[in-house]
Amino acid sequence: MPLIDVFTCYTLAGAGSLFGLGLISLVRTEHPRVRRALWLYRLAFLCMAGFLWVGIQSPEARASAMYTMIGVAAIGASLMAWGFRQLNGQRTPVALGVGLTLGLGAILWWAGAFASEVTFAVLEAAVMSFIAAGTLLDQGRLMWRAQERRGGEVALLVVAGLFSLDWLLILWHTLHWVGPYPDHLLLAPDWLLPASAIGVGLLPLCVASVVFAIVNDRLNQQLRDRSLRDELTGTLSRRGLREHGERMLAEGDGLSPAAKRGPGIAVLMLDADHFKAVNDRHGHLVGDEVLRHLSAVLTEHLRDDALLARYGGEEFTVMLPVRSRQDAQSVAERLRQAIEARPCASRAGLIPLTISVGVAFHQEAHTLDEVLSRADTHLYAAKQAGRNRVICEPLAA
Ligand code: GH3
Ligand code: MG
Ligand code: MG
Repeated sequence: MPLIDVFTCYTLAGAGSLFGLGLISLVRTEHPRVRRALWLYRLAFLCMAGFLWVGIQSPEARASAMYTMIGVAAIGASLMAWGFRQLNGQRTPVALGVGLTLGLGAILWWAGAFASEVTFAVLEAAVMSFIAAGTLLDQGRLMWRAQERRGGEVALLVVAGLFSLDWLLILWHTLHWVGPYPDHLLLAPDWLLPASAIGVGLLPLCVASVVFAIVNDRLNQQLRDRSLRDELTGTLSRRGLREHGERMLAEGDGLSPAAKRGPGIAVLMLDADHFKAVNDRHGHLVGDEVLRHLSAVLTEHLRDDALLARYGGEEFTVMLPVRSRQDAQSVAERLRQAIEARPCASRAGLIPLTISVGVAFHQEAHTLDEVLSRADTHLYAAKQAGRNRVICEPLAA
C-alpha cells in the first residue's frame, strides 16, 4: 500500500499550474525582458495544467495518458528553466530554447510509444534531472558572480537544488529498479516516494512564488535605480550622490594612513557660467540640451572610480579618490578645459560654455554635507573671481 496517492499529487500539480497561471497574469510590467519571461511561464503552466486531465482519467486510461503527459510536463519544465534564464537576463537563442524544449518532449513521446517501460522511466528521470540541475547550475553561477544576494534568487536556488536532488535520487533508483512498474511512473522507493510526489504537486506553486519574488525584486531595484538617477542627464541624482558618496567617504575613512597616501576623497562643485542667459536666449529645451551635453563631457573626462551627480539646476558634483591636492586640482582643471573646448552643438547652433569649479577635501569625522558646503564656498569664490576657473582649498596640515 503506497504511503501517498501519487495521482492526487499529479492532480494538485495541474490545479497548482492553473493557480500559477492566474498569479503570473496579475503581474504588470513595462520591462520587455520580464514580459517575455512571463509568457514563457504562461506557456509552461498551461503545459503543466495537463496533469489535471490525467487526474480525471479512469484508472485504466491513466497508463497511456501518463506517457503523453510526462512528455508535456518535460516541455513545461524546460519552458520554466528558459523563463528563469530570461528573467535573470541570460541570453538563450530562440532556436536553442525551442529546439531543446520540443526535443525533450519528443524524446519522451518517442520512448512512450516505442521503448520499454524501464527505458521510458530512465529517460523521464534523466530529462527532469537535466532540467533541474541545469537551472541549479545556471543560478548558482549567476549568484556566485553577483555582488548582492536577493531573496527571490536565493529561493530559486533552493527550489532548483531540492528538485535536482530529488530527481537525481529518482534517476539512481530507476537505474537500479527491479519491477513491478507502478502506473504513476515515479520509480522511487517508499521512503522517497511521498516527498517526490508532493514535490511534483507543489512545483507549480513553488515556481509561481519564486517568479513573483524575483519580479518583485527586479521592480524594486528598478525603482531604486530610478530614484538614484537624474532623469534629464542620467547622472546620479542628489539622493544618489548622498547614497554613493557616503559609501565612498566611509570606505576612504576605513583605509590605513599608509594606504591612503594623500588627502583621500576630493569633492568638486561645478556650475555652468551664465547659464540663465542660455535659457533666456534660446529657451528651456535648448537649456536642457546644454545640461545633457555638460554631463556627457564631464563623464567622458572622468575615471570610472569617480562619482558624477547633478546637484541641482546647472550645478554638478564630482567625488573622486585622489593622492594629492595637485591631483584634484588637475582633474578639475581638465574638466574646466574640456567644457571650454567643446561648445554644445544644440538645435540653436553652437553654444560656447564655461564652468567654475570649487574643490574641497574630505577630512576624517567631517560629514558629506560639510565637505559639500566647503566646495560650494570655493565655487562661490571662483564666481566672484571672474568665473571659468578652479579654486582649490589648501590642505589642512
Ligand atoms: P552664474 O554664472 O552665476 O552661475 O549664473 P547662472 O546664470 O548660471 O546662474 P543662475 O543661478 O542665475 O541661473 C541658473 C539657471 O538655471 C536658472 C534656471 O532657470 C536654470 N535651470 C535650473 N534647472 C534647469 C533645468 O533643468 N533645465 C533648464 N533648461 N534650466 C534650468
Ligand atoms: Mg550657473
Ligand atoms: Mg547655479
